[in-house]
Amino acid sequence: MRDDKKKCVQAEEELEALRHKVSELEQALQDRRARDARSDSVDDLSRQIFYNIGQGVAVYEAVDNGRDFVFKDINKSSEKIERLRRDAVVGRSVREIFPRVKEFGLFEVFQRVWKTGKPEHHPVSRYKDHRITGWRDNYVFKLPGGEIVAVYDDVTREKQFEERLKIISKAVEQSPVAVVITDHEARIEYVNPKFTELTGYTLDEVLGENPRVFKSGSMSPDFYENLWKTIASGKDWSGEFLNKKKNGEPYWEEANILPVKNSDGAITNYVAIKTDVTEKKKMWGELVASKEKAEEGERLKSCFLANISHEIRTPMNGILGFSALLKEPRLSGEEREQYIELIHESGKRMLSIINNLIDLSRIEAGELTLSPITANLNDIIEHIHDSFAGQATEKGLSFTAEKGLTNEESLIVVDEVRIIQILSHLLGNAIKYTESGAVSFGYRKTGDMLEFSVKDTGIGIPWEHQSTIFERFRKVSLDVTGADQGAGLGLSLSKKFVEMMGGIMRLESTPGKGSHFTFTIPFKGFLKSKAKQGKDGSEKLYAFPPGFTILVVDDDSISRLLLKGVLSGQQVEVILAENGKEAVEKIEKEPSIRVVLMDMKMPVMNGYEATSRIKEIRPDLPVIAQTAFADPGERETAKKAGCDVVLAKPINPQQMLHEIQRHI
Ligand code: ADP
Repeated sequence: MRDDKKKCVQAEEELEALRHKVSELEQALQDRRARDARSDSVDDLSRQIFYNIGQGVAVYEAVDNGRDFVFKDINKSSEKIERLRRDAVVGRSVREIFPRVKEFGLFEVFQRVWKTGKPEHHPVSRYKDHRITGWRDNYVFKLPGGEIVAVYDDVTREKQFEERLKIISKAVEQSPVAVVITDHEARIEYVNPKFTELTGYTLDEVLGENPRVFKSGSMSPDFYENLWKTIASGKDWSGEFLNKKKNGEPYWEEANILPVKNSDGAITNYVAIKTDVTEKKKMWGELVASKEKAEEGERLKSCFLANISHEIRTPMNGILGFSALLKEPRLSGEEREQYIELIHESGKRMLSIINNLIDLSRIEAGELTLSPITANLNDIIEHIHDSFAGQATEKGLSFTAEKGLTNEESLIVVDEVRIIQILSHLLGNAIKYTESGAVSFGYRKTGDMLEFSVKDTGIGIPWEHQSTIFERFRKVSLDVTGADQGAGLGLSLSKKFVEMMGGIMRLESTPGKGSHFTFTIPFKGFLKSKAKQGKDGSEKLYAFPPGFTILVVDDDSISRLLLKGVLSGQQVEVILAENGKEAVEKIEKEPSIRVVLMDMKMPVMNGYEATSRIKEIRPDLPVIAQTAFADPGERETAKKAGCDVVLAKPINPQQMLHEIQRHI
């Protein structure tokens, strides 16, 4: 009985232990179940994240001991980015799907990560094969199970944007136009190198400044107000400014100012694109001025032609009309004389026009040269005074001449013909345009210059014409039917002659009161040792050394005699030759010959050939050519042949003697 009780207790204990065990197992089972349930939900979450995350995720399994990687899974983003379907890639090699993965650099990263287990970043790189092109940014890591995971972004758009930005900023940097970018309050944020080149301001110097620092002060406040109103309202503005550079120099710029807005439509920046148009504006101004000048020239030319035609017809009418009248047998002697005088006057008027035209065309062709000779200025003044005294007295004008030097001092080297021409022209005008009062003229010496003056108390020249009166074809009245007809050439020719002589011509005139023309020429006194004045002061005796011999070559006996006559008065020996051949022979025989006066057109041997031969025999012997200038190239040909001076026929004896003096 006792044993049974004992057994019963033992069995109860064992049962209790079993119960405890069962409850323990139940607890463990419960724990396990709870744990499993938890783990299921974590896996599910990961899967959800994996599939729906915005980044591309690809899971690979290493095969062949890390020699290749096979797709285990890819997420939705990866499908979208790579334009692939999950079931088309799972189980296939990465190299098969992305044939350029090695060149891309990612394959190597996979291998390293697989080996080392250390995550790596494969920075933004460009992938390109026959199927797909794009920029990718990859993070690669290894899972505990040994799989390789690539989490990546498609940064193609950002990269393209960045590239475009790079190109644009390069274009702005290299741009041939200046670019200024400000913030919305017009504080400068950026200027390109062209801006620095144009204005002298660097970015550092203008950063944060308002573009008003470039103001030249020449544009009106309204101008700026309008500009700001336009751009602040979000509209583009374009126009021209006069701005100033860092060194203060003003410049014209053509500017386009564009407001830049953000996605909310608020202005964030202003971009100004500027071009320097200073040169363009200058050129344009010059172009307009030259166009106006050309038009004015055209107008003057037609007016001139109308004038010229009138000016030639008037004296021609006189000549033809009165010469026809002269045939009338019943004319009285007085009438006949009057008509002849009128024909003579008309002829003179014609000649003056023709001479002016010829001079003008020779000046324009650069062919007109001065022929200075030794002349007595006081004689010239007296001669001119005598010529105009009649006209002045006829109009009841007082007419006086002033000589600024003594007769001895007034011996100067000057182009006598041109001085007479200028003074005569100015006096002719002075008398023509003066109805009462006085006309006076003369000269005085001021420093190294001689100053000539022609003054009248006539109608004067309107202020607006005073600056243009020296232009050719220019007349105060362009009306061809007006009383003051003339070709408008005289003053421009006179001024040109004065300038050729090294002087300047000026005008002072008060309309209604009178005009005062002055001009200067350099004073070139004739050396007294070289010349003595004749007894009567008019004929000059040149000093030639004793036995000085001149060879005169001319086929025309009258010309030979004339030259001999002029030279014999100068106590020189004269040898004559009738043609070039004879001249060469005489040069060979007569070493005493010091100068040759050579005609150019001669039979047997002409002057050109003779001069060349003479220059071969005696290169230093001066040869003075005389020519009628029948052909335009004659002067050049004569100079080429070796002639030292070329004089125009008919020969002016004073000029010829002066040239001989100059060359000995
Ligand atoms: P032209 O050969 O026709 O006389 P000029 O060149 O000498 O031309 O003169 C041009 C114009 O200047 C004349 O048509 C005249 O209107 C004006 N002029 C010249 N000299 C005088 C003067 N002394 N007084 C008033 N007007 C003058």
